[in-house]
Amino acid sequence: MNNNTFDYFQPTEILFGEGRLKEAGEATRRFGRRCLLVTVPEIPVFKELYRTITMVLKEAGLDVFHFDGVVPNPTVESVRRGAAMARENTVDVVLGLGGGSSMDTAKAIAVEATHTGSCWDYLFFKDCQPTEKTLPIVAVTTTSGTGSHITQVAVVTNPEERCKSALFHNQLFPNISIVDPDLMHTIPPDITAVTGFDVFAHAFESFINPGGSPYTDLMAREAIRLVVEYLPQAVRNGDSPEARRQMAWADTLAGLCIANAGVTLPHGIGMAIGGLYPHVAHGEALAVVYPAILRYTWSSAPEKFAAVSRIFNPELIEADRKEAAEQLSVVLEIFLERIGLQPTLKALKIPEEELRRLAQASLVLPDYKSHPKVACLTDVESILTESYD
Ligand code: NAD
Repeated sequence: MNNNTFDYFQPTEILFGEGRLKEAGEATRRFGRRCLLVTVPEIPVFKELYRTITMVLKEAGLDVFHFDGVVPNPTVESVRRGAAMARENTVDVVLGLGGGSSMDTAKAIAVEATHTGSCWDYLFFKDCQPTEKTLPIVAVTTTSGTGSHITQVAVVTNPEERCKSALFHNQLFPNISIVDPDLMHTIPPDITAVTGFDVFAHAFESFINPGGSPYTDLMAREAIRLVVEYLPQAVRNGDSPEARRQMAWADTLAGLCIANAGVTLPHGIGMAIGGLYPHVAHGEALAVVYPAILRYTWSSAPEKFAAVSRIFNPELIEADRKEAAEQLSVVLEIFLERIGLQPTLKALKIPEEELRRLAQASLVLPDYKSHPKVACLTDVESILTESYD
């Protein structure tokens, strides 16, 4: 045991397994009769899902008001429109159905609909914080990525300020979370890779985080093991029930980790990329800087880096700790190639002349302070330059 004392908190009730979507009605009905369903706009792949969820909710006696205005990297404006709809229809409960963008929008709506001002006024560092007036939240995840279904976080972007930040409060833990791997078969390979890489990032950053504990370490190692084994399978064969189930479980484990241990430098940079360049998907923003960050960090946390290297490449069990730790960036790059995710900042259309601004924005959220090697502006600029092309 590496820490003698630790806290662990997780209030969300998790309904995990194939077919659990059909329980969404009974689960949501516990919180009232009027439900705001929060999703992205309907595209053909979601037609059947939206029909099913609406039917399941109505069969349980709920009135359903469908807000389908979620945007990727959710904006304050989209939350504002959803919150107005929640208020107009005096809803009792908010159900977010989709990836992190839909679940985070639902959480932010649950706050803004019941509090004065905008969700942006309730960011984690501000004086105003969500209260018990926050509407109950049900989260139904359709990606294996963010862990938002079991975290107290809602990530929102303010395009005017070109800033991506977060609400972070225990009121934002979903009351109930449904993880039905059957919903994930339709995720295309590229989005499977991008969202799946976020699972690795959560598990890894919790594992190297001083805020972690033996409990989160246990879950983080297992989540990493599952990602290494099943993400390439899920990318190759999205219809594999086994691969989808294991990735959904890995996502859940990694979410439980970040809710208690937190993230580190990669997420600080990833959030800055998302705020300045909202066209970049969250997992892509992480993948682009990960190899350079690992090269920058390995010698500051050799034991943990070596442990993760050996999960990727069991042959490294024979290698000494230093060698195994240093190899992590190499084995990760091989893994990224296997899942077809090798972006560069240049390919993501990030202007080279803005790298300094991006570096400054990367040090705004406090995540970088929990990194094993605390970066200064010059360090981040070097990482970004290395990741450019
Ligand atoms: P997303 O929700 O933006 O979804 C990505 C794309 O996948 C969208 O086009 C969506 O329509 C599509 N999609 C989702 N499910 C699908 C399915 N089953 N079949 C086909 N297509 C599907 O992506 P995401 O990575 O899940 O969420 C990203 C957001 O979550 C970012 O804003 C990120 O910052 C945030 N985030 C939140 C937390 C948290 O704890 N709250 C943690 C990490 C990241």
